[in-house]
Amino acid sequence: MARITLDHLAHAYGPAPKGPQDYALKEIDHVWEQGGAYALLGPSGCGKTTLLNIISGLVRPSRGRILFDDRDVTDLPTEARNIAQVFQFPVVYDTMTVRENLAFPLKNRHVPADRTAARAEEIARLLDLTRVLDRKARNLTADMKQKISLGRGLVRSDVAAILFDEPLTVIDPHLKWQLRSTLKEIHRLLDITMIYVTHDQTEALTFADKVVVMHDGAVVQTGTPEELFERPAHTFVGHFIGSPGMNVLPCRVDGATAYLDNEAIKLLRAYPALRQGQRIELGIRPEFVQLQPKGFGFPARVRRIDDIGRARIARVEMAGRAMSASVPDNVSVTGDEAALFFDTRHVHIYADGHLMAGEPV
Ligand code: ADP
Ligand code: MG
Repeated sequence: MARITLDHLAHAYGPAPKGPQDYALKEIDHVWEQGGAYALLGPSGCGKTTLLNIISGLVRPSRGRILFDDRDVTDLPTEARNIAQVFQFPVVYDTMTVRENLAFPLKNRHVPADRTAARAEEIARLLDLTRVLDRKARNLTADMKQKISLGRGLVRSDVAAILFDEPLTVIDPHLKWQLRSTLKEIHRLLDITMIYVTHDQTEALTFADKVVVMHDGAVVQTGTPEELFERPAHTFVGHFIGSPGMNVLPCRVDGATAYLDNEAIKLLRAYPALRQGQRIELGIRPEFVQLQPKGFGFPARVRRIDDIGRARIARVEMAGRAMSASVPDNVSVTGDEAALFFDTRHVHIYADGHLMAGEPV
């Protein structure tokens, strides 16, 4: 086990990269604490797999270093790094039985036969593979094969970390929930650093103690699910996490007022770091924008109202901007004319996407 440090890491796949646009990973400084359950969350193409492959040694970074505790492993091959990796698609030996597949990573490292056998059975039990232990992998479904891959990733107890790259992609939806909580439980039992890559926020938020959000080749925020929700460090995080995500409204500031076109949104305080008239983005989650009858707030036009089970969410337009608002239980709106009430205690101010320093907590 180890703490994993990424030090000024950057990677370009092509030769002779010119600008930032040629880098799959820009400049990453990040520490993964030993024993943590991490999710690495971001949209497709943001660099998650590249980052994982750099940690495991499958890809050599263009710049920067990887440290396991204080040991520089940047130039070490995968085999010498002691990392387990589970990929999106099953990697199993078809001609071997499930038992042999699970035992393989241990046998390969000359772990004594009795310990190998016991461990393979333990992992099989955790993943509910016991009844197929002696079947050939070839005859099993894709779900089962992926469970074997997970088992192969989990079977060694001496690894520095286990990396999962969207491991539930091929898994049937009804099994996904179950496997996700199984993985969480296994993390508690094994106490090994786990990095779980996904583009699905639900998966990330249920698995992880800490979520690392990536956007466009960079880590934009690391935090607990609550921190990401309540204090997104970047407009991208606010918009990406939550459904629907945070409203991001381009405004102009004047003292303690943000203007969305001509609508003046009074803020709780002024932001001295901002110039008069500076363009900013005002971030506010739909929970804190309430739909009200016409005349009781900023004029708005209702496009539609969706019942999402725990709440009603309205898609509205205010000063020509589309946004989401919540519909309180006691409010009924007829026609499309309505109003919006902003709970400005929950407003965040961003400049060029970044949360303003000194924002009240
Ligand atoms: P993610 O896993 O988040 O979807 P990737 O790490 O796979 O993202 O990809 C990040 C960027 O690097 C993308 O623009 C992708 O096209 C590019 N990329 C990934 N793998 C390669 C490769 N082998 N050769 C060239 N470009 C690649
Ligand atoms: Mg990927």
